[in-house]
Amino acid sequence: MKIALIDLKRQYETIREEADAQILEVLHSANYIMGNHVKTFEREFAEYIGVQHAISVANGTDALVMALKALGIGEGDEVITTTFTFFATAESISFVGATPVFVDVEKDSYNMDPTKIEAAITEKTKAIMPVHIFGYACDMDKINKIAKAHGLYVIEDCAQASGTMYKGKKVGALSDIATFSFFPTKNLGCAGDGGMIVTDSDDLACILKAYRVHGSGENGQRAYNLIHGIEDEITVDQSTDNTVYNPLKYYNYLVGHNSRLDEVQAALLRVKLRKLDEWNMRRSEIAEIYNAELAETAYVTPYRDAHTEHIYHMYILQTEERLKVLEELAAREIATGVYYPVPMHLQKVYRDLGYKEGDFPVAEYLSERTFAIPMFAELMDDEIEYIVECLKEIR
Ligand SMILES: *Cc1c(COP(=O)(O)O)cnc(C)c1O
Repeated sequence: MKIALIDLKRQYETIREEADAQILEVLHSANYIMGNHVKTFEREFAEYIGVQHAISVANGTDALVMALKALGIGEGDEVITTTFTFFATAESISFVGATPVFVDVEKDSYNMDPTKIEAAITEKTKAIMPVHIFGYACDMDKINKIAKAHGLYVIEDCAQASGTMYKGKKVGALSDIATFSFFPTKNLGCAGDGGMIVTDSDDLACILKAYRVHGSGENGQRAYNLIHGIEDEITVDQSTDNTVYNPLKYYNYLVGHNSRLDEVQAALLRVKLRKLDEWNMRRSEIAEIYNAELAETAYVTPYRDAHTEHIYHMYILQTEERLKVLEELAAREIATGVYYPVPMHLQKVYRDLGYKEGDFPVAEYLSERTFAIPMFAELMDDEIEYIVECLKEIR
């Protein structure tokens, strides 16, 4: 039985009719940039997460970069983050000219270890960037408490955690700014690249909207005034029809980006957002089966405590004999993945930061043992059974 790690085709089949209709409607409308679907999806997503503002962008990496820029983080600043994550987290910090400062993770949750944060804080530290890895929430109460005590911003990287609950709230609603990715394989994914930034701050939302489109126009002017502390009346000429030509576009106030979510992607994401909770629930259900079936084996199953609902972006196991297990699963046509083989502090690109092997023993330990097995809402019961059977047979 051949089983993919994530089967996007099956997911598409479940929404095909509605998705096709919505996407075609956009094509026919010829309204491709920042149209009604984008505006509506932003409102719907903000409501879903429980925040005031959602600003859609071109991808999850841009979302992180712009979040950092909006907080004024750049050259000479330090941002504390986890060493056990996807590269984009650290990359965004480097991209704005700041330095990523890594901390180790908890052995059970795989998330940033809050007890390691304080020792990493220096005069230059501006923010903490926790990542809800594999869809499991970080201990945000502890992280926020440390941030508050030291006057630091918190930016949640929620790329893997669309819909994760922490103490009754959605992740993304627990910090100054949070970012999401809609890369196709994420729990909420589009048909290409997409991302979102969420915040409760009116000022940050304005600055982010300006950065998204070249720092131009009315938002650019407002953002410029906010950043420079200028209290200036902004007069907007209401008589222009800006659907075709907006003269304000050609007045620039900040060096920004061209990073928008396409109208086609927004139309699809609106269809998928309505399914997200159901899909996440099915993932949990599958995880419960995996957990129960593998409880008495040598595999280490994912951790969960009472206050966090895991949405299992990835279902991660640990084994002492990873190479052998992966080979045996491949021979049985079960796809696997290794997340992540090299922690950030040991990546070549960061050799100049001066980290060495042994600096973060938990992340290094995990990077040699963890692997992902198939996890998506459309996995069928006989496939789950087969996967469990094979895993038991191997070890
Ligand atoms: C996927 C991911 C990103 C980047 O998102 P893109 O949309 O691919 O740019 C950032 N952080 C984490 C933890 C991710 O998993």
